[in-house]
Amino acid sequence: MKFERVALIGIGLINSSLARVLRRDGLAGHISVCARSRKTLDKAVELGLADSITTDPCIAVQDADLVVIGTPLGAYRDVAQNMAPGLKPGCIVSDVGSVKECVFRDVAPLLPEGVHLVPAHPVAGTEHSGPEAGFADLFNDRWCVITPNKECDSSAVETICDLWRVAGMRVQLMDAAHHDKVLAITSHVPHLIAYTIVGTATDLEGDLRDEVIKFSAGGFRDFTRIAASDPTMWRDVFLTNKEAVLEMLSRFSEDLIALRRAIRRDEGQTLYDVFLRTREIRRGVIDAQQHIPPRGPKNGKV
Ligand code: NAP
Repeated sequence: MKFERVALIGIGLINSSLARVLRRDGLAGHISVCARSRKTLDKAVELGLADSITTDPCIAVQDADLVVIGTPLGAYRDVAQNMAPGLKPGCIVSDVGSVKECVFRDVAPLLPEGVHLVPAHPVAGTEHSGPEAGFADLFNDRWCVITPNKECDSSAVETICDLWRVAGMRVQLMDAAHHDKVLAITSHVPHLIAYTIVGTATDLEGDLRDEVIKFSAGGFRDFTRIAASDPTMWRDVFLTNKEAVLEMLSRFSEDLIALRRAIRRDEGQTLYDVFLRTREIRRGVIDAQQHIPPRGPKNGKV
């Protein structure tokens, strides 16, 4: 598999990691990079990730066989609108966004006839952002969920599956709405909980707050890592996956209230049973080899 020209719209953690894979495996004759700021574009050039740069999505996608949108989800509609006139027939448009139904809502209607949309979500990441945060190994042994609908061109879907397999990922096809429900509970609600608990600790009065930092190894530390994730990206995840997140949040709130009641009533057995069951989930994560945190970049360069 080789693309003559790939356009990356956004060159943050995920798309810059993909660019490193494209470079490492010689999969792209030319990589055209689009971002909003000159600083980000200059960084992409310095890191060896871009053959050409522009702030205009329409220029970036000209003659591209593959376009990958890697911006926050809230920018998708504008990006699609701006790039649409530049897309050539037969081009594959994909993305790496954390929510998938919104791609059919915000991007699909704006694409010209003959362009193939194949939404994808590489389920891999860190709390860091920007082109310097990426590294090719980010995707190793993680899952990439591809969410085509009935209208998607099957050979374009196969091409996107192959791309992520070459990047080291295991690939699964899934209905977009189902993806959004699964990710709501495995990723989105956990991030919301982390943002909440770190916010609650920050609001504590001074002396208590100092001790929260001092004794953070007791569990708080892991929440602070998750809660350091990019605010724009996560704002957009919650706004675009509103229904599924609210549904999972209601179930979570009910379970939390049940645990609160068990504590209040000294129901030790209830607490013990829940904790025993959740320990099994951790064993399942380890068996699936999804427990090893990604190693960060050495120097950011390809
Ligand atoms: P990031 O590091 O924050 O970078 C975002 C990139 O998008 C930057 O290059 C930014 O350029 C560019 N951008 C923003 N608005 C734009 C616009 N209107 N037009 C063109 N470029 C624009 O992002 P990321 O963490 O890689 O996340 C990108 C996508 O991947 C998101 O949709 C997210 O849901 C998904 N995702 C993230 C993770 C993760 O762990 N981070 C994991 C899986 C999937 P400037 O710097 O010039 O603003």
